[in-house]
Amino acid sequence: MAKSTEKKKTQLKSPSPAKARAAAKSRLVVVSNRVPDIKDGRVQAGGLAVALEEALQQDGGLWFGWSGKVGNNHPTEPEITKVGPITYVTLDLMRKDYNEYYNGFANRVLWPLFHYRLDLTNFQREHFTRYLQVNDMFATRLSQHLKPSDRIWVHDYHLIPLGECLRRRGAKQTMGIFLHTPFPALEVMASLPTHRALMTALCAYDLIGFQTENDRRAFADYVVHEAGGKVSKTGRVEVLGRKLRIGVFPVGITPGHFEGPIAAPKEIAWGRKLKERYGDKAWLIGVDRLDYSKGISQRLRAFERLLERYPGYRGEVTFFQITPPSRGEVAEYKQLRAHLAAEAGHINGRFADIDWVPINYINKSYSRDRLALFYRASRVGLVTPLRDGMNLVAKEFVAAQNPSDPGVLVLSRFAGAARELNAALIVNPFDTDDVAEAIAQGLEMPLEERRRRREAMMEVIRRNDLVAWRMGYLAALAAAGKRR
Ligand code: UDP
Repeated sequence: MAKSTEKKKTQLKSPSPAKARAAAKSRLVVVSNRVPDIKDGRVQAGGLAVALEEALQQDGGLWFGWSGKVGNNHPTEPEITKVGPITYVTLDLMRKDYNEYYNGFANRVLWPLFHYRLDLTNFQREHFTRYLQVNDMFATRLSQHLKPSDRIWVHDYHLIPLGECLRRRGAKQTMGIFLHTPFPALEVMASLPTHRALMTALCAYDLIGFQTENDRRAFADYVVHEAGGKVSKTGRVEVLGRKLRIGVFPVGITPGHFEGPIAAPKEIAWGRKLKERYGDKAWLIGVDRLDYSKGISQRLRAFERLLERYPGYRGEVTFFQITPPSRGEVAEYKQLRAHLAAEAGHINGRFADIDWVPINYINKSYSRDRLALFYRASRVGLVTPLRDGMNLVAKEFVAAQNPSDPGVLVLSRFAGAARELNAALIVNPFDTDDVAEAIAQGLEMPLEERRRRREAMMEVIRRNDLVAWRMGYLAALAAAGKRR
């Protein structure tokens, strides 16, 4: 399996978690663009935030980043909240920073670029300048809270220059970054006018973590063929006057959160109501933030093709597409929202009858328990992004299935998860017929085959869970720091 190879590589490059813990008596500092809200002493966000919070609990730590609030054009003092051994330090963004650093450069240049949507990038030099300035401002504020023995773990594309900004201020701490997005191919990266500055900044970290071998390879390609550097087989990099390490650490889930029955009576009653209403149909499910990288439009068309090609499914299948809106202030997202609503409406208008609506297109967010109920009741899970760093929904869907009568995952080859979940029905999301065929295959798949495929995927999901991801990265970071 592709994944087992990848996992082995990661393990070969990293010392054992026990060794890493012993080496890591130092405090962990997590930096992310957005620090999740804290309520009753716990973070109010998904699995990933909880995993980072657990890491901070172990040795005590600090979580630094944006509060999620946007003020007027006056810098404000950071807010410091202490909860047990964790200190949260958050900053509000000024309106101009939010518009230019966050929406302007991070979300309208780096996000589309890293997802191979050059047509949607909107590069403006002043937004790049603002991106650097905000990272610099973060570095100034963070420096005031750092201790010499800290280990710093930075997350994602918003904060690529942060490490370099800290180094300029004399920071000697071990610093790593993990990129949750894909890393683009050399020619795509090179189309960014400021690619050299961005890559030089990225290489100021001691460790860069990627989701998949593909991403690591794309980075290595840039190092060797664009920047004239060297990458060793064990992940040692020398480039642009810097020495660092790279590694692959696929993000996982906590399978226990999705396996087994839902306990809360309120949720059970909600699930029962849903079943009463739609229980006589075979369910298909898609769960994606409203984002062009998720391939929702292509997926709707594949569903339409299924109904055209196989009229027997008309009146027999119900497609729930759950799509919470995101980045609503960015023009491309507004347009996409209107486009998807029109497309779902068009398909429903074409095929619906008085007793059946083919697509339940829902623009709201559900709790983890409710998603688990949706996943478990669905015959086919549709995870068909055009490009995705990992895609946790794919793993959650598989984990939530009833082991004795599981549903089938249809998965895009362009999701990071496809490298691990190769027992899914792997499709090319740009090929409408291919996806329609896979849906039909999923709906008809014999029980024995469904069980076999799910078990194979569960093995990887359990092995590469969220704890393994965190421990693997932190072990490699400790080793990279020692070498430095
Ligand atoms: N999610 C959720 N409620 C929803 C839709 C999504 O809690 O209504 C969660 C979902 O369970 C998953 C995450 O949001 O854990 C989405 O992660 P993924 O990697 O699939 O995509 P991303 O949004 O990070 O690109």
